[in-house]
Amino acid sequence: MTLKIYNTATRKVETFRPLSGSGEVKIYTCGPTVYNYQHIGNYAAYIYWDLLIRTLRADGYNVRRVLNLTDVGHLVSDGDDGEDKLEKGAAREGKSVYEIADYYIDDFLKNFRALNLAEPEVIARATDYIEADMKAVDLMSGHGFTYETQDGVYYDTAKFPGYADFAKLDLGGLKAGARVECSDEKINPSDFAVWKFIKPGEKHAMRWDYLGRPGYPGWHLECSTIIHEELGEPIDIHAGGIDHIPVHHTNEIAETYAAYGTELAKYWIHANFITIDGEKISKSLGNVYLFNDLAAKGFSPMDYKMWVLSGHYQGTRNFTFESLGAAQARRLNWRNRIAYLYQKEISDGDAYTSILDAVNNNLNSAEAFSLIDNSILSLDDWRKVDELFGLNLIKDTPDITEEVWRLIREREQAREAKNYKQADNLRDKLAEKNIKVNDTADGPIWEYLS
Ligand code: AMP
Ligand code: ZN
Repeated sequence: MTLKIYNTATRKVETFRPLSGSGEVKIYTCGPTVYNYQHIGNYAAYIYWDLLIRTLRADGYNVRRVLNLTDVGHLVSDGDDGEDKLEKGAAREGKSVYEIADYYIDDFLKNFRALNLAEPEVIARATDYIEADMKAVDLMSGHGFTYETQDGVYYDTAKFPGYADFAKLDLGGLKAGARVECSDEKINPSDFAVWKFIKPGEKHAMRWDYLGRPGYPGWHLECSTIIHEELGEPIDIHAGGIDHIPVHHTNEIAETYAAYGTELAKYWIHANFITIDGEKISKSLGNVYLFNDLAAKGFSPMDYKMWVLSGHYQGTRNFTFESLGAAQARRLNWRNRIAYLYQKEISDGDAYTSILDAVNNNLNSAEAFSLIDNSILSLDDWRKVDELFGLNLIKDTPDITEEVWRLIREREQAREAKNYKQADNLRDKLAEKNIKVNDTADGPIWEYLS
């Protein structure tokens, strides 16, 4: 089957054709800055990319995916000013930057795995690529794309003719209005640091000697470097959040062009934002929910994944606990349809083909989910659905044990003997085991209560 996907680079839905001309596909997804907990909104993008990867695998491609972890160089402004986010995290918690990075990497990967997201072939930590970053800066400088200021090595965006194309930037407007603070020494307002110098007395624990001074890489550089080292450009698909389009991804493209003279990626895919109760997720509004907050209300990461996949990656999504409750109920319904199949066989249909078709249509998981709701699926179909969405439906729905079957049969006998008190007792015992029994014309059919 063939994937159709919206490509930000062309602003069109395109038919996916791998660069290799064979089954090999290279994907890079921008990862988290590991200075704080990631909120539920941050995880939405990883859930969408997981569906992208699983869809390509279901279509028969061999996907190699790299995910980076930003542990240096991402400043609070997203530009070239302000504190490094890792330094900020370290000051906040009275720990070292390395302790901060380790702690939040662990937390991120724990949630990543709880969401059953396909394990990346490479998880790349920015600080493991510093030497390669320096080589890239050497190349860019050697090709005449950079200039030095007191503050660092800057990319002269006027040297890259296509700089404005990707994000359709209005560079004229930028000059007048200034998208970024224009430091006195910058030639063009859109120029950005590929390497930052640490001034005498400046607090920055992560530092490396380069060009005769201590410094650290600019934020965007890690992504173009890691792609160069781990995948080799151009890659097939580069993914990130929509906020990455005008600065981060634009600058990654510029760096790759200057250092290696090539295109960075053929397809660019961007996830839109999640709002909560109609509001932006922010500390001041008190709506920064973590998975622990969902757990406290009885929701699992998988319930959240069901909620995310019930919508589309390009739309703004509004999260409410009510809609999360609906996603949880839907997942329980699907699990109980699997439980039913342990008890009664259903012959194989062809529902899976249309489900895969739906996700191949620009990752329309919402449509795929309603097909699942409205089709008869065999156990084999459910296995494929589980693989396609990574929902752990079958894993979380084990068949019942002999002991539970015995309780169900005893309850049946008690009912037949009109011993309703004992039947009720047995029903309560089953409930303790999270099992409910429905009496049907075909005899008792059990299902999970939660
Ligand atoms: P931050 O740690 O706030 O810089 O967020 C890291 C990335 O997560 C951002 O660059 C966005 O792509 C993504 N992100 C942040 N907030 C949201 C949100 N509310 N919904 C979806 N993605 C988000
Ligand atoms: Zn990136």
